[in-house]
Amino acid sequence: MPLIKVLPVQLRNKIAAGEVIERPASVVKELIENSIDAKSTEIGIEILNGGKGLIRVIDNGIGMDREDALLCVERHATSKVSTEKDLFNITTMGFRGEALSSIASVSRMRILTGIKGAESGTFVEVWGGDIREIKDYPVIGTIVEVRDLFYNTPARKKFMRSESTESIHIIEHVTFEALAYWEIGFRLTMDHREVMNLPPAGCPRERISQVYGAEFLEGLVEIISERDGLKMTSYVSRGENLRNRKSHQFIFINKRPVKDPSITHAIYQSYEGHQKDKHPIFFLYLSINPLEVDVNVHPTKREVRFSDKDRIYRFVRDNIRDFLIIRREEVRTIVGNAGAPVVPASTGDDPVIKEDKPFFVSEKGEFGFRPSIPFIYLGESFIAYSCREGLVLLDHHAAHERVLYEHFLRGENVDSFRLLFPRQVRLSAKEYRIILDNATILNEMGIEIDDFGYDTIIVRSLPVVLKKADIQALLSEIASAIIDGERPEKPLKESIAAKMACHKSVRGVEVLTNEEVQVLIHDLEKTTDPDHCPHGRPTRVFLSINDLRRMFGRPTR
Ligand code: ADP
Ligand code: MG
Repeated sequence: MPLIKVLPVQLRNKIAAGEVIERPASVVKELIENSIDAKSTEIGIEILNGGKGLIRVIDNGIGMDREDALLCVERHATSKVSTEKDLFNITTMGFRGEALSSIASVSRMRILTGIKGAESGTFVEVWGGDIREIKDYPVIGTIVEVRDLFYNTPARKKFMRSESTESIHIIEHVTFEALAYWEIGFRLTMDHREVMNLPPAGCPRERISQVYGAEFLEGLVEIISERDGLKMTSYVSRGENLRNRKSHQFIFINKRPVKDPSITHAIYQSYEGHQKDKHPIFFLYLSINPLEVDVNVHPTKREVRFSDKDRIYRFVRDNIRDFLIIRREEVRTIVGNAGAPVVPASTGDDPVIKEDKPFFVSEKGEFGFRPSIPFIYLGESFIAYSCREGLVLLDHHAAHERVLYEHFLRGENVDSFRLLFPRQVRLSAKEYRIILDNATILNEMGIEIDDFGYDTIIVRSLPVVLKKADIQALLSEIASAIIDGERPEKPLKESIAAKMACHKSVRGVEVLTNEEVQVLIHDLEKTTDPDHCPHGRPTRVFLSINDLRRMFGRPTR
């Protein structure tokens, strides 16, 4: 008896759905991309219960006639490619003809669609892939409604996370598409509340500003270049505006949001020589001849393959690097005449000269609370002092992080101050939601916030040590830390405390005063792990007299 059988259509669709439709956000992505392909200029997205209740996407695009409205839910039904040749010259977001059939097979879906000038539009209802009802319906453009996602695939349904997590994924996908298609208006509501409202923008710059606020844009530079058919419009971190984690990193190839390790590497290479372990923000829009990009590599089309990867790598790296180098040299010339230690500016481009604290050897005995330890500064962040028959080398940034981290974690001794003028901080819709959802925990840690609406948070109080921190960057990093913190191996408070601690010393070089060094050494001793910063890097290294004897080839004692 043969063991092999050809699978029935419904089962094949469910298998395809497993690849394309992972969670409510994947449905949102596919429906938006269909609306984009249908030449819509306004797209509305309505969500109930994190997409588990309802996903509705409304567009003003070209719509479908009745025949197409019935065909579109069939597998491999597409208006976007018809010959093999088309496959290598894709200019639309979709082309595989499997999104609607996949969604239809794992949900209860309605399509209401009509074309301009037609007598009537069409209403089609499909449950688990079966057409239940077809009737006339007056509409121009298309509305797709998806209810009860995964109702007939319980295994997949189990993998859906909380409504709040699914909502965040949806906001993230809408943001991707909105950044890619800045000329289209996007409006997103969740449980009847408006989460995003982005009118059509004139350029990516305007869209980035709509999504993240004008202040965020100030930390970026615009680099536009064109060569041999390659065009790049990019908004990347100024050299001093690097972040502690990879957030706000976007690559769009011919307007398709993609992940591309090679291009990402090229961008990081441009920042070589800047602060280590830091991450640039980038929004990179690349236009390439579609014949040179293969988008048919991955079912969700988030990866692409280039016919000449190296050329693109060099184009991106050289253009961004040259731009940044020119700017660095400008800074160096100004500084060169001043002849004093340089502290990179915390904001803006002007270098700040710090005159009052050159490298120094401490003087003894100025403090009441404990005898002062003599120390010397090595470079910008190492402190050497002698202690118990040996030499200690301390990284003052790492040590400070450990001390602050424990302060924040315990929530005690966190001196907060009320801002005289509460700060309004504009965040992305996703960050805004995460921060508000966690207001209580932030409050416990000394950051008091309120909702201002429109993706804006009011910061009322802050821990004193964070007085000079870039609050927008801090809240944005805390939001990412909270997402990571959802993983059970890392308690939320710990991730947030670690972020807050390292934000104190994110930017620039800081030379501590004699007194500050004494307090730091003293406080570090009292922490639970004085030898490591919250990220696990060493805070101090001890060389005993015997270590030194060994280093100098003498017998140890
Ligand atoms: P693909 O986008 O890969 O072609 P889909 O399953 O997503 O496959 O959609 C199938 C077809 O349905 C599309 O090719 C398009 O012709 C039609 N379609 C889907 N959504 C819309 C829409 N919002 N407006 C007009 N036509 C649409
Ligand atoms: Mg599609």
